Amino acid sequence: MGKLGSYLKSLLLLELLGGLWLTLKYLFRPKYTLMYPMEKTPQSPRFRGLHALRRYPNGEERCIACKLCEAVCPALAITIDSEMRADGSRRTTRYDIDLFKCIYCGFCEESCPVDSIVETHVHEYHFELRGENIVDKQQLLAIGDRLEPEIAERRTADAAYR
Ligand code: SF4
Ligand code: SF4
Repeated sequence: MGKLGSYLKSLLLLELLGGLWLTLKYLFRPKYTLMYPMEKTPQSPRFRGLHALRRYPNGEERCIACKLCEAVCPALAITIDSEMRADGSRRTTRYDIDLFKCIYCGFCEESCPVDSIVETHVHEYHFELRGENIVDKQQLLAIGDRLEPEIAERRTADAAYR
């Protein structure tokens, strides 16, 4: 749109009128209230909720302690310690996420070369005691074990875009 068109559009308040028309259109439509939590809205496979650490089908944890997720986290929410195993592989001895600091940006998930740290569809969780906001490696692995079928399904649904 040229300068003249844009000038006329703002002069005649066309966008404002468009907005008012939309309001008017919905004013007389039947209203619907979602009965949460009995009813829920559809969720994208990319939804970023509670974190989980995944394992391979043989039970071995995926994480190789490369610390990319820790480095990329803009909120400094991830803390990792690692050591070398007897077989020469490197694994974490500590993997903590502070969910009070986390901004659910998904950078950790995107940076992980082995699809280990992921964000699940779970968004309904709470803490009751001080310190419960820091989830450790065992808790994250347990979440991953519990939700693996759903995690795998969602990642397959999104695979074409990754
Ligand atoms: S989602 Fe973002 S803020 Fe949260 S732990 Fe991952 S990288 Fe950090
Ligand atoms: S979760 Fe992924 S990115 Fe983070 S340390 Fe483990 S392998 Fe590296």
